[in-house]
Amino acid sequence: MFQKILVANRGEIALRVIRAAREMGIGTVAIHSTADSDAMHVRMADEAVCIGPAPSSDSYLRIPAIIAACEITGADAIHPGYGFLSENAAFVQALEDHDIAFIGPTAEHIRIMGDKITAKDTMIKLGVPCVPGSDGGVPTLEEAKKIGEDFGYPVIVKATAGGGGRGMKVAMTADDMEMAYRTARSESKAAFGNDEVYIEKYLTTPRHIEIQVFGDGRGNAVHLGERDCSLQRRHQKVFEEAPGPCISPEERAEIGRVCAEAVAKINYVGAGTIEFLYEKGEFYFIEMNTRLQVEHPVTEAIFGVDLVREQIRVAEGHPLSFKQDDLQINGHAIEVRINAETFPGFAPRPGKITAYHAPGGLGVRMDSALYDGYSIPPYYDSLIGKLIVHAPDRQAALARLNRALGELIVDGVETTVPLFHALLQEPDVLTGDYTIHWLEHWLDQKFSK
Ligand code: ADP
Repeated sequence: MFQKILVANRGEIALRVIRAAREMGIGTVAIHSTADSDAMHVRMADEAVCIGPAPSSDSYLRIPAIIAACEITGADAIHPGYGFLSENAAFVQALEDHDIAFIGPTAEHIRIMGDKITAKDTMIKLGVPCVPGSDGGVPTLEEAKKIGEDFGYPVIVKATAGGGGRGMKVAMTADDMEMAYRTARSESKAAFGNDEVYIEKYLTTPRHIEIQVFGDGRGNAVHLGERDCSLQRRHQKVFEEAPGPCISPEERAEIGRVCAEAVAKINYVGAGTIEFLYEKGEFYFIEMNTRLQVEHPVTEAIFGVDLVREQIRVAEGHPLSFKQDDLQINGHAIEVRINAETFPGFAPRPGKITAYHAPGGLGVRMDSALYDGYSIPPYYDSLIGKLIVHAPDRQAALARLNRALGELIVDGVETTVPLFHALLQEPDVLTGDYTIHWLEHWLDQKFSK
């Protein structure tokens, strides 16, 4: 049993982990930068350690400072949340060397899935369907052009080390290839220090469907169905739901089985998400995230489970607390990501919150680290809250989302709440009829001058 967990993150996800640990009777340590001294996660944890100045490279990403914070406070485990060091194999390795437990998978699994070419190779071997594409990295423009001809345009050039939608460029025709190839490489070099890229067939009408999996590290694993995250802007999700409006129980059972078996075979431990594009009834693997996802609450809602509690239990060495047959879907859940950004410009707008009121009532969950008088610092992600609703069916969940958005008050900064009010007026959103390109087209049509 862990006595004390250090949460190596900030914002709503730090609160999420602190809450789970507290319910389990486990002590909590917050870490923070000097810009976050007044942040909610610092106030909510049992103890807090300042680990450096505002830029995340000097604080939330500083491995030696985080390990020192564990040693000072006697924390015996670290939960990384999402982002920051959550998928950093060197971090996990360093923790192992210091005898601190990592609440997540092994360094080896993080390494395999963090390199997209190795991840794809591994998944192919495990029988998971993948997007057709290059056989590994594509080191020259000549090869890229040849692959474009062989597969047929459009194709997408993607960074092997990619993440967060960066280092990805589409070539619609052969004329675009040079530009796409060079830009993807240079973006990737700048963002990840690695300019290796690979090429995939670009799917023109897919949905984004991801499967939640959970392994115990001893060859047992389950799946918790899918989340549909097709409404995206610049490859970033804004609206997520479970179950997926277009996935049948048979499709869920089949792709879920394939995913659970794949992670069981590699003795995967903890929570993971296998992401697919879904087009014309076929699933195509794109990547695996070896951590808790931002959108995990929709899965928690429909299955009635606490995924963070489960992560902690499994990291303590307990078997999974549910079997596949225990996991039955109940109703429908939707999450919207609320950012401190202008709408429709999506420019970050940090600042002081002059009034905050969270919505409540049946089936409403607001995960946010905001409070009245809080100043959102300009250094970090612009996500300021996640509103999650759960209802017996999709129509009722949409009505509940509309009702809850109406109750939410965030004054002092601009937010993306107007985006969701507008989306809830759209027939395609109400019927669930959209692909990953729908939101960008809609924004272009409605708001570009
Ligand atoms: P990241 O790790 O940067 O999030 P992903 O590989 O998960 O990158 O892709 C992110 C998004 O980019 C997908 O959800 C999808 O919208 C788009 N995308 C990625 N690969 C393809 C593809 N082969 N065809 C069409 N869209 C794609």
